[in-house]
Amino acid sequence: MKSVVLAADLGGTNLRIAAVDSDGTILHLTKRPVPKGVSPDQLTDLIREMGAECSGVVSETGRLSGVAFTAPAPVARDFDGLLTKLPNLPSLVGFNLKTALTDLFHLPVTIENDATAAGIGEHWIGATRGVENSICVTLGTGIGGGIIINNEPLRGKDGTGGEIGHICVEPDGRPCGCGSHGCVEQYASATAIERMAVESGMNTASAAQVYEAWTAGDKHAKAVFNTMGRYLGIMLAGLSNALNPETIVICGGVTAGWDAFAGRVESEIATRAYPVVAARAKLVRGALGDNAGILGAARSAFLVAQ
Ligand SMILES: [Zn+2]
Repeated sequence: MKSVVLAADLGGTNLRIAAVDSDGTILHLTKRPVPKGVSPDQLTDLIREMGAECSGVVSETGRLSGVAFTAPAPVARDFDGLLTKLPNLPSLVGFNLKTALTDLFHLPVTIENDATAAGIGEHWIGATRGVENSICVTLGTGIGGGIIINNEPLRGKDGTGGEIGHICVEPDGRPCGCGSHGCVEQYASATAIERMAVESGMNTASAAQVYEAWTAGDKHAKAVFNTMGRYLGIMLAGLSNALNPETIVICGGVTAGWDAFAGRVESEIATRAYPVVAARAKLVRGALGDNAGILGAARSAFLVAQ
């Protein structure tokens, strides 16, 4: 019988839970909306129901050996499970996710930061498979990072390793939710693309619409993606000098607009980073789409379960 884990991805709007085998095959995946202001008890009930649906599928083909969870929060190696910093899910602050999951499933529980999990997933069976040093950038509502150095994820002592969205690219720039100013998240996330488009007079509601306008040759959309690519490139040039990655992989919804910004990111890296660093770092799109995080979480669970 194959070893299988339950892997969950908790986002600001949806909870997705999948049964994943040790080859990275998703056997079953279920997705439900997270109610606004969800309480710890409501979330636990949701996980119980969705987990039962996935384990029902697993019992026919494999043996459940662990549970993995990704959260949009810093997660250190010695993380005890208490959620303390959740800007998009404030109603869960103070909830001990690890204890709740252990009580529910009676299996080893692993928790990863969502962007770190995406980096681990791409490194396991995606775009950075076999690559020793890589930076995974998740571009969505915010900007996250999953950094792999010498084949190991970088977490840092308090779990903020990989928090690349709050690297400053404009010292007196826009205020950021983190308390600083001019963070790259304020210029290169989907939220930033939408905001910059509206500020330039465009009548658009989403980053996808700004990209549509870009493909039609709209000059405002071109300026927005140029600014976005420039700031993302400035951040990645500095980070590449510090980490000397072989691959920089870009994940998340914004990668749909790849043509509109990737060239500018590459040219900033080529202009600003050490020549040897710029020549080494290949910029690629993620290979696992929305499932990078869930697969990375599963990988972490297998490492613990073995
Ligand atoms: Zn910030």
